[in-house]
Amino acid sequence: MFQDIQYIKTRANLIRQSYIEDMEKHLLAFEQKLINNGIQVVWIKEEKELSETILKSFSKPNNNKIAFDLPSIPKDFQEKNAFFKQISIKEFEDFKDQVEHLVVKANFGVVENGTLVLVDKESKSCFNKVEYLHIILDLNNLVIKQSDLEPLLYLLKGDNNNFSFPKDIKFISGPISQIINSTNFGFDEKFTTKPVKTIVYFYDNGITTILEDTVLRESLYCIDCGKCKNVCPVYKHTQNFTPIELVYNNCFDENRKTTQIFENTTLCGNCNEVCPVLIPFTDLLIFEMQKAKNKHSRERNIDLYKYFSKRVRMNKLYTWYNKYFFIKKQYPKNKKLANYFKEQKLPFFNIKMSHKNESND
Ligand code: SF4
Repeated sequence: MFQDIQYIKTRANLIRQSYIEDMEKHLLAFEQKLINNGIQVVWIKEEKELSETILKSFSKPNNNKIAFDLPSIPKDFQEKNAFFKQISIKEFEDFKDQVEHLVVKANFGVVENGTLVLVDKESKSCFNKVEYLHIILDLNNLVIKQSDLEPLLYLLKGDNNNFSFPKDIKFISGPISQIINSTNFGFDEKFTTKPVKTIVYFYDNGITTILEDTVLRESLYCIDCGKCKNVCPVYKHTQNFTPIELVYNNCFDENRKTTQIFENTTLCGNCNEVCPVLIPFTDLLIFEMQKAKNKHSRERNIDLYKYFSKRVRMNKLYTWYNKYFFIKKQYPKNKKLANYFKEQKLPFFNIKMSHKNESND
Protein backbone atom coordinates (compact mmCIF):
# COMPACT_ATOMS: atom_id res chain seq x y z
CA MET A 1 0.00 0.00 0.00
CA PHE A 2 2.76 2.40 0.98
CA GLN A 3 5.39 2.42 -1.74
CA ASP A 4 7.68 5.05 -0.35
CA ILE A 5 8.68 4.28 3.24
CA GLN A 6 10.57 7.52 3.69
CA TYR A 7 7.47 9.46 2.68
CA ILE A 8 5.29 7.57 5.13
CA LYS A 9 7.83 8.06 7.93
CA THR A 10 7.83 11.79 7.26
CA ARG A 11 4.05 11.78 7.37
CA ALA A 12 4.13 9.87 10.67
CA ASN A 13 6.57 12.41 12.06
CA LEU A 14 4.24 15.29 11.14
CA ILE A 15 1.25 13.49 12.64
CA ARG A 16 3.11 13.07 15.92
CA GLN A 17 4.31 16.67 15.84
CA SER A 18 0.85 18.12 15.32
CA TYR A 19 -0.46 16.27 18.38
CA ILE A 20 2.51 16.88 20.69
CA GLU A 21 2.67 20.61 19.93
CA ASP A 22 -0.91 21.05 21.16
CA MET A 23 -1.09 18.15 23.58
CA GLU A 24 -3.03 19.77 26.41
CA LYS A 25 -5.89 20.96 24.21
CA HIS A 26 -6.25 17.56 22.53
CA LEU A 27 -6.08 15.66 25.81
CA LEU A 28 -8.94 17.67 27.28
CA ALA A 29 -11.03 17.11 24.16
CA PHE A 30 -10.28 13.38 24.31
CA GLU A 31 -11.20 13.20 27.99
CA GLN A 32 -14.59 14.77 27.25
CA LYS A 33 -15.24 12.29 24.42
CA LEU A 34 -14.43 9.33 26.69
CA ILE A 35 -16.73 10.63 29.44
CA ASN A 36 -19.52 11.11 26.89
CA ASN A 37 -18.94 7.51 25.80
CA GLY A 38 -19.41 6.22 29.39
CA ILE A 39 -15.73 5.67 30.17
CA GLN A 40 -14.22 6.97 33.42
CA VAL A 41 -10.99 8.97 33.14
CA VAL A 42 -8.36 9.29 35.88
CA TRP A 43 -5.27 11.48 35.50
CA ILE A 44 -2.19 9.86 36.97
CA LYS A 45 1.10 11.60 37.65
CA GLU A 46 3.40 8.72 38.56
CA GLU A 47 3.70 4.96 39.01
CA LYS A 48 2.95 4.91 42.76
CA GLU A 49 -0.30 6.78 42.20
CA LEU A 50 -1.24 4.39 39.40
CA SER A 51 -1.00 1.27 41.55
CA GLU A 52 -2.73 2.95 44.51
CA THR A 53 -5.64 4.10 42.35
CA ILE A 54 -6.13 0.68 40.78
CA LEU A 55 -5.93 -1.00 44.20
CA LYS A 56 -8.62 1.36 45.52
CA SER A 57 -11.08 -0.03 42.97
CA PHE A 58 -10.80 -3.53 44.47
CA SER A 59 -14.09 -4.55 46.01
CA LYS A 60 -12.79 -7.21 48.43
CA PRO A 61 -10.33 -6.58 51.29
CA ASN A 62 -8.09 -9.31 49.87
CA ASN A 63 -8.14 -12.18 47.35
CA ASN A 64 -8.89 -9.90 44.40
CA LYS A 65 -7.80 -11.50 41.18
CA ILE A 66 -6.00 -9.42 38.63
CA ALA A 67 -4.27 -10.02 35.30
CA PHE A 68 -1.71 -7.71 33.68
CA ASP A 69 -1.17 -7.40 29.97
CA LEU A 70 1.68 -4.89 30.15
CA PRO A 71 5.25 -4.78 28.84
CA SER A 72 6.31 -4.78 32.51
CA ILE A 73 4.33 -4.75 35.74
CA PRO A 74 4.94 -1.52 37.71
CA LYS A 75 7.36 -2.14 40.60
CA ASP A 76 5.04 -0.53 43.10
CA PHE A 77 2.36 -3.07 42.20
CA GLN A 78 4.70 -5.96 42.81
CA GLU A 79 5.37 -4.66 46.32
CA LYS A 80 1.66 -4.59 47.15
CA ASN A 81 0.94 -8.14 46.07
CA ALA A 82 -0.57 -9.07 49.44
CA PHE A 83 -3.80 -7.37 48.28
CA PHE A 84 -4.32 -9.47 45.18
CA LYS A 85 -3.65 -12.71 43.42
CA GLN A 86 -2.07 -12.30 40.03
CA ILE A 87 -3.34 -14.61 37.30
CA SER A 88 -1.43 -14.99 34.07
CA ILE A 89 -3.19 -14.12 30.81
CA LYS A 90 -2.69 -17.71 29.66
CA GLU A 91 -4.50 -19.17 32.72
CA PHE A 92 -7.21 -16.56 32.36
CA GLU A 93 -7.74 -17.31 28.69
CA ASP A 94 -7.94 -21.03 29.37
CA PHE A 95 -10.76 -20.39 31.90
CA LYS A 96 -8.59 -21.85 34.65
CA ASP A 97 -9.42 -18.92 36.89
CA GLN A 98 -11.94 -16.08 37.15
CA VAL A 99 -10.44 -12.61 37.10
CA GLU A 100 -12.15 -9.38 38.20
CA HIS A 101 -9.54 -6.87 37.02
CA LEU A 102 -7.54 -6.69 33.82
CA VAL A 103 -4.84 -4.02 33.36
CA VAL A 104 -3.80 -3.35 29.79
CA LYS A 105 -1.98 -0.60 27.94
CA ALA A 106 -3.54 1.19 24.97
CA ASN A 107 -1.32 1.97 22.00
CA PHE A 108 -3.25 5.04 20.88
CA GLY A 109 -6.26 7.21 21.60
CA VAL A 110 -8.09 9.00 18.79
CA VAL A 111 -9.16 12.50 19.82
CA GLU A 112 -11.66 12.94 16.96
CA ASN A 113 -13.99 10.14 18.08
CA GLY A 114 -12.86 9.17 21.60
CA THR A 115 -11.65 5.71 20.55
CA LEU A 116 -8.94 3.67 22.25
CA VAL A 117 -6.74 1.51 20.05
CA LEU A 118 -5.14 -1.68 21.35
CA VAL A 119 -2.76 -3.59 19.13
CA ASP A 120 -1.86 -7.30 19.28
CA LYS A 121 -2.75 -7.73 22.94
CA GLU A 122 -2.32 -11.15 24.49
CA SER A 123 -5.52 -10.54 26.48
CA LYS A 124 -7.61 -9.59 23.44
CA SER A 125 -10.22 -12.27 24.06
CA CYS A 126 -10.51 -11.49 27.81
CA PHE A 127 -11.85 -7.93 27.72
CA ASN A 128 -15.46 -9.07 28.14
CA LYS A 129 -14.74 -11.52 30.95
CA VAL A 130 -13.77 -9.06 33.68
CA GLU A 131 -15.66 -6.66 35.91
CA TYR A 132 -13.05 -3.92 35.58
CA LEU A 133 -10.98 -3.07 32.54
CA HIS A 134 -8.15 -0.71 33.49
CA ILE A 135 -6.61 0.88 30.40
CA ILE A 136 -3.36 2.81 30.74
CA LEU A 137 -2.75 5.46 28.10
CA ASP A 138 0.50 7.44 28.00
CA LEU A 139 -0.27 11.15 27.54
CA ASN A 140 1.81 11.33 24.37
CA ASN A 141 0.13 8.42 22.63
CA LEU A 142 -2.82 10.15 21.02
CA VAL A 143 -3.57 11.09 17.45
CA ILE A 144 -5.92 13.84 16.39
CA LYS A 145 -7.82 12.13 13.58
CA GLN A 146 -8.81 8.55 12.82
CA SER A 147 -6.99 8.80 9.47
CA ASP A 148 -3.73 9.57 11.37
CA LEU A 149 -3.75 6.03 12.67
CA GLU A 150 -3.14 4.30 9.35
CA PRO A 151 0.55 5.20 8.85
CA LEU A 152 1.37 4.75 12.53
CA LEU A 153 -0.18 1.29 12.70
CA TYR A 154 1.61 0.35 9.49
CA LEU A 155 4.99 1.41 10.91
CA LEU A 156 4.48 -0.17 14.32
CA LYS A 157 5.54 -3.69 13.34
CA GLY A 158 8.16 -5.13 11.03
CA ASP A 159 11.39 -3.41 10.03
CA ASN A 160 12.74 -1.04 7.41
CA ASN A 161 12.13 -3.35 4.49
CA ASN A 162 9.15 -5.25 5.61
CA PHE A 163 6.38 -3.27 7.28
CA SER A 164 2.85 -4.59 7.61
CA PHE A 165 -0.32 -3.85 9.53
CA PRO A 166 -0.63 -5.57 12.92
CA LYS A 167 -2.62 -8.81 12.99
CA ASP A 168 -5.08 -7.74 15.66
CA ILE A 169 -6.35 -4.22 16.28
CA LYS A 170 -9.09 -3.60 18.86
CA PHE A 171 -11.04 -0.35 18.93
CA ILE A 172 -12.85 0.52 22.17
CA SER A 173 -15.25 3.44 22.13
CA GLY A 174 -17.49 2.58 25.08
CA PRO A 175 -17.84 0.01 27.85
CA ILE A 176 -17.73 -3.57 26.56
CA SER A 177 -20.45 -5.98 27.76
CA GLN A 178 -19.39 -8.59 30.25
CA ILE A 179 -20.96 -11.99 29.64
CA ILE A 180 -22.24 -13.61 32.81
CA ASN A 181 -23.01 -17.30 32.83
CA SER A 182 -25.50 -18.30 35.53
CA THR A 183 -26.56 -21.94 35.93
CA ASN A 184 -29.33 -23.33 38.08
CA PHE A 185 -27.71 -26.35 39.80
CA GLY A 186 -26.06 -27.35 36.58
CA PHE A 187 -29.30 -26.98 34.57
CA ASP A 188 -30.69 -24.11 32.53
CA GLU A 189 -27.47 -22.43 31.56
CA LYS A 190 -28.28 -18.73 31.19
CA PHE A 191 -26.22 -15.88 29.82
CA THR A 192 -26.77 -12.28 30.78
CA THR A 193 -24.63 -9.21 30.18
CA LYS A 194 -23.58 -6.15 32.12
CA PRO A 195 -21.18 -3.36 31.13
CA VAL A 196 -17.53 -3.82 32.04
CA LYS A 197 -16.47 -0.88 34.19
CA THR A 198 -13.87 0.74 31.95
CA ILE A 199 -11.38 3.18 33.44
CA VAL A 200 -8.77 4.99 31.36
CA TYR A 201 -5.68 6.24 33.17
CA PHE A 202 -4.10 9.28 31.49
CA TYR A 203 -0.56 8.43 32.50
CA ASP A 204 1.96 11.25 32.78
CA ASN A 205 5.02 9.46 34.17
CA GLY A 206 7.30 12.41 33.32
CA ILE A 207 5.83 13.18 29.90
CA THR A 208 4.79 16.74 30.80
CA THR A 209 8.32 17.42 32.10
CA ILE A 210 9.78 16.33 28.76
CA LEU A 211 7.18 18.46 26.97
CA GLU A 212 8.59 21.57 28.63
CA ASP A 213 11.98 20.97 27.02
CA THR A 214 11.58 22.37 23.52
CA VAL A 215 14.35 20.16 22.10
CA LEU A 216 13.75 16.87 23.90
CA ARG A 217 10.04 17.23 23.22
CA GLU A 218 10.66 15.53 19.90
CA SER A 219 11.33 12.27 21.75
CA LEU A 220 7.63 12.20 22.69
CA TYR A 221 6.84 11.28 19.07
CA CYS A 222 7.78 7.72 20.10
CA ILE A 223 5.10 5.10 19.37
CA ASP A 224 6.73 2.32 21.43
CA CYS A 225 7.62 0.12 18.50
CA GLY A 226 10.80 -1.15 20.19
CA LYS A 227 12.92 -0.95 17.03
CA CYS A 228 15.61 1.35 18.53
CA LYS A 229 16.09 -1.06 21.40
CA ASN A 230 16.66 -3.95 19.02
CA VAL A 231 19.47 -2.23 17.14
CA CYS A 232 21.27 -0.56 20.04
CA PRO A 233 24.65 -2.27 20.57
CA VAL A 234 25.00 -0.87 24.08
CA TYR A 235 21.55 -1.92 25.24
CA LYS A 236 22.02 -5.39 23.83
CA HIS A 237 24.92 -5.87 26.20
CA THR A 238 24.04 -3.83 29.25
CA GLN A 239 20.20 -4.02 29.22
CA ASN A 240 20.36 -0.69 31.07
CA PHE A 241 18.68 1.97 28.94
CA THR A 242 17.04 1.71 25.56
CA PRO A 243 17.92 4.67 23.31
CA ILE A 244 14.57 6.33 23.96
CA GLU A 245 14.88 5.79 27.73
CA LEU A 246 18.29 7.40 27.60
CA VAL A 247 16.79 10.53 26.08
CA TYR A 248 13.80 10.53 28.45
CA ASN A 249 15.92 9.99 31.57
CA ASN A 250 17.87 13.02 30.71
CA CYS A 251 14.99 15.19 31.80
CA PHE A 252 14.78 13.79 35.30
CA ASP A 253 17.92 12.95 37.16
CA GLU A 254 20.11 16.07 37.11
CA ASN A 255 23.08 14.41 38.79
CA ARG A 256 23.18 11.13 36.99
CA LYS A 257 21.99 12.18 33.58
CA THR A 258 25.28 13.33 32.11
CA THR A 259 27.23 10.23 33.03
CA GLN A 260 24.29 8.09 31.99
CA ILE A 261 24.39 9.46 28.47
CA PHE A 262 28.14 9.25 28.13
CA GLU A 263 28.24 5.70 29.39
CA ASN A 264 25.32 4.34 27.44
CA THR A 265 25.73 5.49 23.87
CA THR A 266 28.33 5.10 21.18
CA LEU A 267 26.46 7.60 19.00
CA CYS A 268 26.42 4.90 16.36
CA GLY A 269 23.14 6.27 14.99
CA ASN A 270 21.48 2.88 14.43
CA CYS A 271 18.43 4.19 16.32
CA ASN A 272 18.14 7.16 13.92
CA GLU A 273 18.04 4.81 10.99
CA VAL A 274 15.25 2.56 12.28
CA CYS A 275 12.94 4.97 14.10
CA PRO A 276 9.66 5.02 12.15
CA VAL A 277 8.74 8.49 13.39
CA LEU A 278 12.18 9.93 12.62
CA ILE A 279 13.30 10.88 16.12
CA PRO A 280 16.80 12.35 15.62
CA PHE A 281 18.45 10.45 18.47
CA THR A 282 22.06 11.41 17.89
CA ASP A 283 21.15 15.09 17.52
CA LEU A 284 19.24 14.98 20.82
CA LEU A 285 22.02 13.16 22.65
CA ILE A 286 24.73 15.44 21.29
CA PHE A 287 22.64 18.47 22.23
CA GLU A 288 22.33 17.17 25.79
CA MET A 289 26.05 16.42 25.98
CA GLN A 290 26.87 19.92 24.86
CA LYS A 291 24.47 21.37 27.42
CA ALA A 292 26.12 19.34 30.18
CA LYS A 293 29.54 20.44 28.99
CA ASN A 294 28.60 24.11 29.41
CA LYS A 295 26.98 23.66 32.80
CA HIS A 296 29.69 22.04 34.90
CA SER A 297 32.76 23.49 36.59
CA ARG A 298 35.79 24.18 34.41
CA GLU A 299 37.61 21.07 35.60
CA ARG A 300 34.60 18.88 35.04
CA ASN A 301 34.06 20.55 31.69
CA ILE A 302 37.50 19.57 30.51
CA ASP A 303 36.84 15.93 31.41
CA LEU A 304 33.45 16.00 29.77
CA TYR A 305 34.79 17.73 26.73
CA LYS A 306 37.47 15.09 26.26
CA TYR A 307 34.91 12.35 26.63
CA PHE A 308 32.48 14.04 24.34
CA SER A 309 34.93 14.87 21.60
CA LYS A 310 36.15 11.28 21.60
CA ARG A 311 32.63 10.01 21.20
CA VAL A 312 32.05 12.29 18.25
CA ARG A 313 35.38 11.26 16.79
CA MET A 314 34.33 7.65 17.12
CA ASN A 315 32.09 8.15 14.13
CA LYS A 316 35.16 8.86 12.10
CA LEU A 317 37.14 5.76 13.03
CA TYR A 318 37.66 4.27 9.62
CA THR A 319 40.52 1.93 10.45
CA TRP A 320 40.56 -1.14 12.59
CA TYR A 321 43.69 0.17 14.32
CA ASN A 322 42.04 3.41 15.47
CA LYS A 323 38.94 1.63 16.54
CA TYR A 324 40.89 -0.88 18.60
CA PHE A 325 42.60 1.79 20.70
CA PHE A 326 39.45 3.81 21.07
CA ILE A 327 37.53 0.82 22.38
CA LYS A 328 40.34 -0.21 24.69
CA LYS A 329 40.30 3.20 26.28
CA GLN A 330 36.55 3.74 26.39
CA TYR A 331 35.51 0.36 27.72
CA PRO A 332 38.29 -0.76 30.01
CA LYS A 333 35.88 -2.28 32.53
CA ASN A 334 33.20 -3.61 30.25
CA LYS A 335 34.87 -6.50 28.49
CA LYS A 336 31.65 -7.83 27.02
CA LEU A 337 30.90 -4.55 25.31
CA ALA A 338 34.49 -4.03 24.24
CA ASN A 339 34.54 -7.48 22.61
CA TYR A 340 31.31 -6.76 20.86
CA PHE A 341 32.66 -3.57 19.29
CA LYS A 342 35.86 -5.29 18.30
CA GLU A 343 33.91 -7.91 16.38
CA GLN A 344 32.02 -5.33 14.32
CA LYS A 345 33.08 -4.90 10.74
CA LEU A 346 33.62 -1.39 9.40
CA PRO A 347 31.69 0.74 8.85
CA PHE A 348 30.02 0.02 12.16
CA PHE A 349 29.66 3.56 13.42
CA ASN A 350 27.26 5.78 11.66
CA ILE A 351 29.38 7.28 8.93
CA LYS A 352 26.38 9.03 7.44
CA MET A 353 25.83 10.91 10.68
CA SER A 354 29.42 12.12 10.84
CA HIS A 355 29.16 13.45 7.26
CA LYS A 356 25.96 15.23 8.22
CA ASN A 357 27.75 16.89 11.16
CA GLU A 358 30.66 17.92 9.03
CA SER A 359 28.44 19.62 6.49
CA ASN A 360 26.60 21.42 9.31
CA ASP A 361 29.82 22.77 10.76
S1 SF4 B 1 12.34 3.34 17.24
FE1 SF4 B 1 12.41 3.71 19.44
S2 SF4 B 1 11.96 5.90 19.63
FE2 SF4 B 1 11.36 5.36 17.55
S3 SF4 B 1 9.18 4.89 17.76
FE3 SF4 B 1 10.27 2.96 18.02
S4 SF4 B 1 10.55 2.72 20.25
FE4 SF4 B 1 10.03 4.87 19.83
